[in-house]
This record gives sequence, structure tokens and C-alpha cells, in this order.
Amino acid sequence: MTNNMFFIANWKMFGDLKSINSTKKVIKFSKIKKYRKAQIVYCPPFTLINQFSKITKNSNIKIGGQNCHQNLKPGPFTGNVNSNLLKLAGAKFVILGHSESRASGDTNHLINLKIKSALKNNLKVILCIGETLSEKKRKKTNKIIKSQLVNCLKNVKKNKNIIFAYEPVWSIGTGIIPEVENLKKQILTIKNMILQLWKLKNPKVLYGGSVSSKNIDELKKITFINGFLIGGASQKANNFIDIIKKTII
Ligand code: PEP
Repeated sequence: MTNNMFFIANWKMFGDLKSINSTKKVIKFSKIKKYRKAQIVYCPPFTLINQFSKITKNSNIKIGGQNCHQNLKPGPFTGNVNSNLLKLAGAKFVILGHSESRASGDTNHLINLKIKSALKNNLKVILCIGETLSEKKRKKTNKIIKSQLVNCLKNVKKNKNIIFAYEPVWSIGTGIIPEVENLKKQILTIKNMILQLWKLKNPKVLYGGSVSSKNIDELKKITFINGFLIGGASQKANNFIDIIKKTII
């Protein structure tokens, strides 16, 4: 485990102005020498991005969006936010291809367009990939992940600004995590797929799905994981800090 691992906090549609204050604890924590290299990224709802950017201004903590519209230019897209607006609000990252966004209509093709638009705005992309329970049961995991990678990255040049997050859909919000040995194999397979596709050695691959301070000791046994995408457990400052503390020892 290295001390520059990623800890991406996905707040989903949770949080309010009051909860931003609780992150002051995390900001203070992130300044402790031992944890200074940890790459902490908060992805709050769109409406809180600006406040988060202000509050984290003098720290190493970065802010990200949870999705973006594919169009680079402004336009009549009610209810949407593009990568340009994210950047203006202070975001440096954007999560794309999250299974909850895929469930509401994001296809691999659309995600591919979103990746291109985000990269044009110099946002770092956290690309989520992973299989559903039924795909896992039908032993389709690798086929699905390969197709997500190939189609989401179509005509996207080898790029260090894309970080991958393996998020088995059956693990998100369920409290269930994969067996460590299986997860180890899966992360290696994904790193290999990216190597084949892009000739990119050591791509950054994170794990996401029910990460908590209770199971982090188990997950961190996989020394080549580059960090974690954390939903529920990132919303309470103490839990989030605990996860980082237990990872970086
Ligand atoms: C997520 O939102 O990407 C996620 C992994 O959520 P949770 O940690 O709550 O399973």
C-alpha cells in the first residue's frame, strides 16, 4: 500500500450545508504529515460543489462531480450540468459510468462522449465498471467489463487522467464485498485488460462497493489496489477518516 492512494467520497444525493461543516474534520486530518499524500476527493451533489471547493481551498482535498452532460457547449438541456460548469464550480474530477447513472440511462456510448468532454475540460475521470449480480451468476463478469472498457474508451487515447473504479453492482450499498482472493484476481484482470487496450502500465484501479472501517483491513490486503470509492461510509467524517487511517499505516 502506498500513501498516495485515492479515497473518493461519493455522496450520491445526500448532504446539505450542515454536513459540509462535518468535513472540516477531514480537512484538518488531511493536513497531518502522514496522510498528506492521500488523494482525497469529495464528490457531493452538484449544488454543493461550489461550497465544497471554497471550504477545501487551502487543503489537498479535491472536489468532483458525480456525472456530467456530454455536450461541451451550453444548450437547452434542462436539469443537466456539463464538464465546463463542473470546472467553473471548482471540480477537478468527475465520476462517470456509476451503476446508478447507468441505471438511469447512461450507456457505454454516452459515457464515452462524457469522458471525451470531461477530458477536454481537463477534469480527471473516475470511470466505474462492474457487473450486476445476474451477470456474475451467469459468469459474464469479464465479458461485461471488457465491453464497458472497450466501448467507454472508444477513440480515447491512452490517458493518465482516467482512473478506473471496479464496482460490482451487487456490492454497492449492500454491505457485501467480494472474497479477497476473487477481488485480487478481478483487479489484476482489469489492469491487464487496460494494458492490452492502451499499453498503459500500472493503470490506477480502485475498488468500490460497501467499503467501511469494518472491512477495510481485509480489502487493503490487496496491495496493488490504488484506492477506494466510498459511498455510504464517506458521509460521516469519523468513518471516512477511520478508513484512511487503517489503509495508510
Ligand atoms: C458508490 O456509491 O460508488 C458506492 C460504492 O457506495 P457504497 O460504498 O455505499 O456501497
